[in-house]
Amino acid sequence: MKTIEQFLESKNIRVTAMRLLIYKFLAEKQVAVTLSDIENAFEKADRTTLYRTIKTFEEKAIVHQIDDGTGINKYALCEKGCNCEIETDLHLHFHCNNCNETICLTEHKIPQIKVPDGFVSENVNLVVKGVCDKCSGQ
Ligand SMILES: [Zn+2]
Ligand SMILES: [Zn+2]
Ligand SMILES: [Zn+2]
Repeated sequence: MKTIEQFLESKNIRVTAMRLLIYKFLAEKQVAVTLSDIENAFEKADRTTLYRTIKTFEEKAIVHQIDDGTGINKYALCEKGCNCEIETDLHLHFHCNNCNETICLTEHKIPQIKVPDGFVSENVNLVVKGVCDKCSGQ
């Protein structure tokens, strides 16, 4: 069992107290979070530092960004060994129209999508919308 410190170092990230806290915060969440969720959780922290930390995590495939159609980007922790690649890592997300929360459906990978010649895919977001288990009461 690797510690978070070792994990971050294996991703070539210099470990700082702030980075550890943000990682732990994300790891405890079952749902994707927005930047303002992170800001609210770390009110005393400098917003630029928070933003840069998330960007660093994103570049190193520690978190992935989710565009669930609400207009606000959300972030969720990647699975172990994720490189945020289409077909192997990118997965569907579920957005609840009632509580507005978004979760990873990591079992459902996004298939390679053939785009016309001359087009280059850089990112794919596939979002299933509906009502989550908490809201449906089932
Ligand atoms: Zn990833
Ligand atoms: Zn819900
Ligand atoms: Zn996800």
